[in-house]
Amino acid sequence: MSVLTVEGVWKNFHGHHVLRGVDLEVRSHEVVCLIGASGSGKSTLLRCVNLLETVDDGAIFLEKQEITDPRVDVDDVRKRIGTVFQAYNLFPHMNVLANITLAPRQVHGVAKEQAERQAMELLERFGLADRARAYPDQLSGGQQQRVAIVRAMATQPKLLLLDEVTSALDPALVVEVLGVIRELKQAGMTMILTTHEMSFCRDIADTVCFLDGGVLVEKGPPEQIFTAPRHPRTREFLSSVL
Ligand code: ADP
Ligand code: MG
Repeated sequence: MSVLTVEGVWKNFHGHHVLRGVDLEVRSHEVVCLIGASGSGKSTLLRCVNLLETVDDGAIFLEKQEITDPRVDVDDVRKRIGTVFQAYNLFPHMNVLANITLAPRQVHGVAKEQAERQAMELLERFGLADRARAYPDQLSGGQQQRVAIVRAMATQPKLLLLDEVTSALDPALVVEVLGVIRELKQAGMTMILTTHEMSFCRDIADTVCFLDGGVLVEKGPPEQIFTAPRHPRTREFLSSVL
């Protein structure tokens, strides 16, 4: 079953083509990892998927519904997609529990007690239960990012987008965030993530997509991409980062 289909997506900023006819299919429970140099269009692709950007050409389908149709209910689409960015986006004036229950309560209309119960279950699962009443500035960077992921999961999204979620962290804290992502994969979460951590990408991805100048030049299972890349640009990129 296809969760997401990206068909021939083009995006330009001020005449500069950032995405050039990108095709991508993400199946249920699949983990897709986008790699590529800085500026290759990874974040823009994710931002097109969660409708933070409009596409210039092409179409994107979420569970068979065309979400790039201008008549689409943007809020309804975003309810089905969880997103976590590089910088922690927790609300600083709210404790962990309030951060996590905000969207389930306000966007999905879940009752407070139920939202809190579900949030506690998630916190428990990710080893953060004792931090439920803490404020973001009382948490380590790794904990903040784990809470941000828990918060994205609280609305039970069909698809999770993770954009460089470990890039702002000290190496020692990266491990715990990667552990959360690994656990989500084991639980069958469908994800698209971008990362500079090639070893993690290799470990967790079902499919690796290499973007170069807005072109998806190669995609395949990690064993193939990392050991026998077909495209010279992929080889060049990998030799520069590995
Ligand atoms: P990546 O995530 O792979 O580093 P991005 O998608 O962030 O790449 O950026 C791709 C290109 O698009 C870059 O050249 C960047 O400067 C440009 N870009 C991204 N967002 C905008 C924007 N809102 N306005 C203008 N240019 C942008
Ligand atoms: Mg980026």
